[in-house]
Amino acid sequence: MIKHIGILGGTFDPVHQGHISCADFVIKHCNLHEVRLMPCHIPPHRATPGVSSDMRAKMVMLATENHPKLSVELIELHQDTPSYTFDTLQKLTHLEPNSRFYFIIGMDSLCYFTRWKNWQGILELAHILVCQRPNYSEQSGDAPALLAKYGVSDIAALQEKATGGILLLDNPLRDISATEIRKQLQQKDLPQTLSVKVLNYIKLHQLYQD
Ligand code: ATP
Repeated sequence: MIKHIGILGGTFDPVHQGHISCADFVIKHCNLHEVRLMPCHIPPHRATPGVSSDMRAKMVMLATENHPKLSVELIELHQDTPSYTFDTLQKLTHLEPNSRFYFIIGMDSLCYFTRWKNWQGILELAHILVCQRPNYSEQSGDAPALLAKYGVSDIAALQEKATGGILLLDNPLRDISATEIRKQLQQKDLPQTLSVKVLNYIKLHQLYQD
């Protein structure tokens, strides 16, 4: 049997309800067996986070604990090189030849997707599911050209092929970002957009204080 697996990659610095609601939406509407949230060790396109990858992964574990179809993918965690999605998908498809992978990104990421390492190769290894995100439009950046070439209208059309399609989801918009959460924590505000367990972990380890 072929397993259909969603992978939501990110920095998760920290994981928030925007990520979880995106993953939940995919589980509900995209006919997948599971979604894995995959924290990167060294993000290629931005500064390395101040919080270790082990701690970011632990927070993802806490946030997904009560979601039976969500889990944490640790494959990028202990590499000393930047975590490029193409390389990771190559490893995953090699390790799990009977699975099909659906890489999940927010609209902000689709807008600059052609700057990702070997983005065409990514589309040879997986489908892409795009979550809507406030302030980012499918009219911006790379999105129109990518959707014109690879876009499909629904999940059934996507699942006719093994890889290479891009599906725009109509998930509810959640105006949440980790950047905003880190700011709130620095100002000693308590963000409402984190799970209680993640917030307690942040307090316990005094993360994002300065
Ligand atoms: P930062 O503010 O530090 O850039 P972030 O909130 O964007 O962080 P990431 O860990 O970088 O979080 O995001 C991982 C993936 O989740 C990305 O593809 C991003 O587009 C998507 N994502 C994050 N937040 C949302 C949201 N509120 N709605 C939809 N997609 C989101």
